[in-house]
Amino acid sequence: MKMWRELSRSCITKFAAAAMFACLILAQATRAQGPSNLMLPENQVTRVSDHVYAIIGFPNIGIVVGDKATLVVDTGLGPRNGAIAAREAKKLSKGSMLYLTTTHYHPEHAAGEGGFPAGTILIRPVVQQKELEQRGMEFVEMFSDRSPQMKELLTGVTFRKPDKTFNNEMTLDLGGGVTARLFWMGQAHTKGDEMVEVKPDETLISGDVVQNKTAPNLPDENASMKGWVDILSRLRPMKFNHVLPDHSPPGSGALVEQDFEFFSRLQSRALELKKQGKSADDAGQVLLAEFKAKYPDWQSLSAIPNIVKHIYAEHP
Ligand SMILES: [Zn+2]
Repeated sequence: MKMWRELSRSCITKFAAAAMFACLILAQATRAQGPSNLMLPENQVTRVSDHVYAIIGFPNIGIVVGDKATLVVDTGLGPRNGAIAAREAKKLSKGSMLYLTTTHYHPEHAAGEGGFPAGTILIRPVVQQKELEQRGMEFVEMFSDRSPQMKELLTGVTFRKPDKTFNNEMTLDLGGGVTARLFWMGQAHTKGDEMVEVKPDETLISGDVVQNKTAPNLPDENASMKGWVDILSRLRPMKFNHVLPDHSPPGSGALVEQDFEFFSRLQSRALELKKQGKSADDAGQVLLAEFKAKYPDWQSLSAIPNIVKHIYAEHP
């Protein structure tokens, strides 16, 4: 009996160790190559609010349905995903007009445009379009190097000119009293981040700018933490009932306040440590530990040292 127990205990321990090792490997592979499932799911839309639906995937795709027109927000990675997004939109559509816009120029958001049907009206903020022309293909190549599947999905991608552009905002009348206000407030995750406010739902399709318990992603010098905190402070007085982020689950309007609190605290704590003479590297480690303790259920906290470097550089 005792021997059996010891044997089983050692088996369990060995099994647990093997499982843990497998998990570690898997986690590392996922981090290096992006999410394991690059294809948008079919026949699985989630209803966010009366007129807003989402395909939950990489990234979440927003679909806004009015009586005469439908708006799709983001394309998925490459034309094959774009075709899935367009098909799901068609199933939900009441009218024949199809609008497409993109929250920013990164490939999983913009490089699936080629999968949309002819006659799709593509709209972008001027700043985002300029950024896409400067760096869009560079990102397509960078993503293509991450995995053979990404390469395959992005083969032959080109970006066409949008049919319409706007400076700060453009409101689309989708029919049946449904409107979508496409707007740009400045630099955050990229220079050209766009958001969409849907009425009468009071739903915000927020791209990367407002996420659900996820630390900000500042991938390069086109991102700005200062700009991001400023945008969140201007979103606070607007009242939203629902928020649909691109890389985290949909939530209530409280996500804006939650992000503002986290982002502004991180920025002010970093600046306090800078004032005390701490190096950016040291401050990054201090704040990583501090925020892990204070926000244990948040995603991507390992980005904090990089965010702190951004904050130091933005406040010389
Ligand atoms: Zn992005």
